[in-house]
Amino acid sequence: MAGAVTAYIGLGSNLDDPRAQVEQAVARLDRLGGSRVAAVSALYRNPALQAPGVPEQPAFINAVAQLRTRLAPLALLDALLGIEAAQQRRRDGVRWGPRTLDLDLLLYGRRQVAEPRLQVPHPELTRRPFVVFPLLELSPRLELPGGGPLSGYAAGLDAGALERVGTVPGFDGAAAGLPAP
Ligand code: ATP
Ligand code: CA
Ligand code: CA
Repeated sequence: MAGAVTAYIGLGSNLDDPRAQVEQAVARLDRLGGSRVAAVSALYRNPALQAPGVPEQPAFINAVAQLRTRLAPLALLDALLGIEAAQQRRRDGVRWGPRTLDLDLLLYGRRQVAEPRLQVPHPELTRRPFVVFPLLELSPRLELPGGGPLSGYAAGLDAGALERVGTVPGFDGAAAGLPAP
């Protein structure tokens, strides 16, 4: 796709059939204008964060998608919010509450964005095992803009709670043309 940038999207769901939510979101990403999904990581089951002020909630299904896109960063963010809305994402003021779908723009090529509505790379990226390990699965030698190799952050993270629970049909790595692990 000429003029396209490689972006990475973090997907998460822990409500209303999370696996189906993630699969549907991948299909919607693939249908976005000027965009196509090049690869999707495995699906990972990840217990919800437990912290003061964060409600107890079901485990998440998380994955990361590699998107080739001609959309500009803010246009892509709006498209992601649109897909969340299409899948009944409610923002009721509870931070980190349960949700049908969360789509985060993790990386947009080598660009850095610092806008009120959009920070790229995603500020929590390197601290979240459910983001770092799927990203490395898709791109073992990924470099963070301004941050060096992503693999350098994996050593300090605990992958113990992450459980591989399958793949998105049609995007099982081999189908997307990735080398076998
Ligand atoms: P976190 O960002 O810590 O994962 P969250 O995903 O639960 O938390 P949301 O309620 O989904 O947070 O998003 C709040 C706002 O974050 C969005 O409306 C969006 O404007 C802003 N935002 C800033 N940077 C990004 C990014 N890289 N990807 C997605 N949203 C972002
Ligand atoms: Ca998020
Ligand atoms: Ca979000």
